Amino acid sequence: MLKELGRTGVRIPEVGMGTHDYHGGSWPLRRGLESGALFIDTAESYGTEAVVGQAVRGIRERVFIATKVSPEHLRPTDLRRSVDASLLRLGVDRIDLLQLHQPNPAISIEETMGALGELVDVGKIRFCGVSNFSVDQLRDAQKVLRRHAVVSNQVRFNLIDRTIETGLLQYCQAERITVIAYSPLARSLGRIMDCDPYGTIRGIARANGKSAAQIAINWCLCRDGVVAIPKSGSQEHVVENCNASDWRLSAEQIALLDATIQYRHRNWFDQFARQSMPRPLQDMAARVVRFLPRSLRRRVL
Ligand code: NAP
Repeated sequence: MLKELGRTGVRIPEVGMGTHDYHGGSWPLRRGLESGALFIDTAESYGTEAVVGQAVRGIRERVFIATKVSPEHLRPTDLRRSVDASLLRLGVDRIDLLQLHQPNPAISIEETMGALGELVDVGKIRFCGVSNFSVDQLRDAQKVLRRHAVVSNQVRFNLIDRTIETGLLQYCQAERITVIAYSPLARSLGRIMDCDPYGTIRGIARANGKSAAQIAINWCLCRDGVVAIPKSGSQEHVVENCNASDWRLSAEQIALLDATIQYRHRNWFDQFARQSMPRPLQDMAARVVRFLPRSLRRRVL
């Protein structure tokens, strides 16, 4: 099943393939492409652009390739250099979707978006997207990207982390900015199953003749404007994940999952750290918070 990317008129598969920490070689990706997941997500920081390039060889024109530029490369000169390097590693002459991996408050968004727009104008990028942007950061980015549009925001969304439902999801839906749900299996299916005390997922999976992973992914896809990019290094899982598309959970099943799965909305501190601080500072802050006494930790969080 396809969904429109932003307001572009271009339709992309609602299940794509993630490649963070991916070590499966080109075959699982190739298997996914053959199964309809003609949408791959990578990033300059993942070290997987070359394997994505190998996987799409010969069928590049049929595949939607999304990559990301790291937050430390958002100054125009660095951005241009990063895009050229990504093009080279991917072995393509155009990136379908270039996403800013994370905001960088130390660099003016106006400068970054200006350079991004120029890269669209010269044909190196087809569409501009962002990742881990808050509503305010999205608004700022949209305002300064004058001749083009921010078509997507890639953010964490899964059955047990529903933080984006506190406003970001609604904003993206209203603005028709596609939400690309990352970690739709919460980085490990076991984590989701641990938050299902009544066995709801297994019950619904049995009733629908689907797997637990397919239920978890389809739950994300049931939201308007949301596509998902599960990662797997196993051909079997890749095909299973592709088959999370083309059908829908019933309204009753969604209500049951919503009522019984324990989920979190991340607190303001966590969100602030993820959206506003450069990665090394984030790691440092997380380490400091871990050492605080439990009572104080609760107040900070
Ligand atoms: P994920 O897709 O939620 O989970 C991946 C884990 O689930 C892997 O351990 C995988 O193991 C397992 N898995 C996959 N399919 C399965 C299945 N059918 N049954 C059981 N287990 C299965 O986690 P993620 O990699 O964090 O997120 C997906 C993608 O989102 C990333 O690869 C990346 O492209 C993107 N992402 C973006 C950001 C960002 O800041 N923009 C952050 C995180 C992730 P196997 O390999 O053994 O199948």
